[in-house]
Amino acid sequence: LQDGLYCIGCGARMQTTDQQEAGYLPMSALQKQLESEQLLCQRCFRLRHYNEIQPVSLTDDDFIKLLHQVSESKALIVYVLDLFDFSGSTIPGLPRFVGQDNPIYVIGNKVDLLPKSLKANKIKDWVRGQLKDQGIKPVAVDLTSAAHPANLDEILDKIDELRAGRDVYVVGTTNVGKSTLINQIIKSKTGVQELITTSRFPGTTLDQIAIPLDDGRSLIDTPGIIKADQYAHQVTDKDLKYVLPKNEIKARTYQLNDGQTVFIGGLARFDLIAGLEDAKTGVTFYFENNLNLHRTKLVGADEFYEKHQGGLLTPVPKSADSGLISHEFKTKTAADLVIAGLGFITLPAGVTVKGYAPTGVSVFLRKAMI
Ligand code: GDP
Repeated sequence: LQDGLYCIGCGARMQTTDQQEAGYLPMSALQKQLESEQLLCQRCFRLRHYNEIQPVSLTDDDFIKLLHQVSESKALIVYVLDLFDFSGSTIPGLPRFVGQDNPIYVIGNKVDLLPKSLKANKIKDWVRGQLKDQGIKPVAVDLTSAAHPANLDEILDKIDELRAGRDVYVVGTTNVGKSTLINQIIKSKTGVQELITTSRFPGTTLDQIAIPLDDGRSLIDTPGIIKADQYAHQVTDKDLKYVLPKNEIKARTYQLNDGQTVFIGGLARFDLIAGLEDAKTGVTFYFENNLNLHRTKLVGADEFYEKHQGGLLTPVPKSADSGLISHEFKTKTAADLVIAGLGFITLPAGVTVKGYAPTGVSVFLRKAMI
């Protein structure tokens, strides 16, 4: 019955046997859908109708297998990264998996979230520097906003030039905006709109989608790898909007004294342990604009969080009971304290700070981006 039927939401082949696998739909529901001619797998159906996240079984292992398949072929790799969640969107060991000889074209997406005053070349240099630390030397780096791409034609021309007659594989982790970008490419190439499900929900692109290119080659969209340390996994569906911002992030600067704390909604916390000598310490927060920052004294901050979480300090992580874990750092140069997938705090050199996030969310220092 279900031979050759595909979900119109995610493109997965429909099946009625394994609930954990992509494209699952109970037989009864499949029959009903066939009558209404609207084929959606259970996962996409729920996404569309109840905004509910279902676990997907595309594991890191599946993904690595898929990348190995890429490394066997001669192809151009288009590596999509989220500029706002850079660490959360990098794929560890990528060159090894996609083959040392396959060129990598990096597209830094969601540039619309960064301050407009920031120069593109400065961001590109920063991206190259970050990738170099991971052993990746891209043949080109471009920035875009897949949601409203002004430079799509240039990107498509660049892809055509760089692929030199080869296939193209588009890779990226979930939520970098890969589906959005692919949709734009499909739209520009074929005029079809909204072919692929794009949503705020992690892991919505399942099977490979191939777009034919002029010379018989293809541009292949690969499933997004799910990285467990993304903050998106820590919030309820309703609160995903704080983790996946839609508009330019407004820098919010505070002049702090030692022993001051700033809560980032109820999702994260920052302490200034020892700031600059003889002066207040200017720290700048880059988080979703509707996420309230609340400044208070470090002394008593634990109790303050206990008392106000979910109220004054909102939203809170899904499993708020387990609290926030602290990580201490001292900056040697101007640096960003990153709360992976949520945002970052720009700090001057020579200060000691603490960053707090739920268990499983990485908190670390990196070279300042801005
Ligand atoms: P995928 O998992 O990589 O396929 O990501 P999606 O295309 O589903 O996008 C994930 C989330 O990021 C969605 O909420 C999109 O609306 C959002 N998004 C995608 N591209 C952009 C962009 O250029 N700018 C902004 N601000 N958000 C974007």
